[in-house]
Amino acid sequence: MPSIFSRIISGELPASVVYRDAHCVAFMDIHPISPGHALVVPRREVLTLAELDKDIYGHLWEVARRVGQAQQQALKSQAQHFLVNDGPGANQTVSHVHLHVIPRYRGDGLRSVWRMISHVGIVALSPPINQRKRQQLDQQAARIADALSAAATQATRSAGS
Ligand code: AMP
Repeated sequence: MPSIFSRIISGELPASVVYRDAHCVAFMDIHPISPGHALVVPRREVLTLAELDKDIYGHLWEVARRVGQAQQQALKSQAQHFLVNDGPGANQTVSHVHLHVIPRYRGDGLRSVWRMISHVGIVALSPPINQRKRQQLDQQAARIADALSAAATQATRSAGS
């Protein structure tokens, strides 16, 4: 049985996608710890980072770094957490390795930290999301995707000059 994330990647399940390429897809977490919380997921379904080819491993972190920068640009976040629950023994709830990119905002202090602590419980309950919430995630995804494209264009221009 494919993972939820494989079913998203194949297009069987909906997602608010921010980025996709030949090796990975990044989309919004449906139960975000903070606004803009995104997941970077390899197309190949493996459980842990150790099972990834070295090149794909490096590529995922590079995409995560760019997503963090794009969140800052698009959503005015101040910084971000990169988090990996690397296997079921580390509270992984979806059996398909993924990198969380969790934006932090000026003054969000305790609220975000508390949400991080309570997140495992929220995810375990896995409440469904309504249409309004999906629209909100789609809007955030579009803004992050635009910032990613702008950064890629800028990088290409700088390389050419
Ligand atoms: P982890 O606990 O590290 O395995 O994180 C799994 C993450 O996947 C949680 O933060 C969930 O909110 C998120 N998640 C579960 N189902 C979906 C889905 N259908 N679309 C987007 N994110 C999801």
